[in-house]
Amino acid sequence: MILKVARIGHPVLRARAKEVPPGEIRSAAFQRLLDDMVETMHEYDGVGLAGPQVHVGIRVAVLEVPASDDRARAPVPLMAVVNPRLTPLDDEKVRGWEGCLSVPDLRGIVPRHRGVRLQALDREGQPIDLQAQGFFARVLQHECDHLDGGVYLDRMEEMRSLSFLREFTRFHAPRDGDEADDD
Ligand SMILES: [Zn+2]
Repeated sequence: MILKVARIGHPVLRARAKEVPPGEIRSAAFQRLLDDMVETMHEYDGVGLAGPQVHVGIRVAVLEVPASDDRARAPVPLMAVVNPRLTPLDDEKVRGWEGCLSVPDLRGIVPRHRGVRLQALDREGQPIDLQAQGFFARVLQHECDHLDGGVYLDRMEEMRSLSFLREFTRFHAPRDGDEADDD
């Protein structure tokens, strides 16, 4: 089922999401929520979607980065992260464009840690412990911000890069065209 996406201004996007009791992960209701989040992410061509974005204030996100011509953007297989915790691998930050299904039609440049360690549970309740770099790390940081009531606008150093999608595509997108993704 495709879920309704909350847009900024809705308080659910500004609240701290609650931990998921690990015993609930394998429940039919929770599995259904994950399926619906994946379906919603795909419907809107997102590369990530967090619980608060579908009006569910719990610490869960789904993400998937499809293969593309952009070599800076390695594909990430579909995954769900429950109760994720991120630790920066070092102090290095990189700037990159982000968009968000909850901030429709806009793009902006956001500094993010180049690499992060992800600790979480997967959709079977099994532990995930991995290191993510580049765009994968960026998407994880974007999604985890949602779980703490944040959106990428909060992380922008300044607003001068903020662009509507059409202008982004016209003036700022990588030359091979349609690289605009929402998280
Ligand atoms: Zn987002």
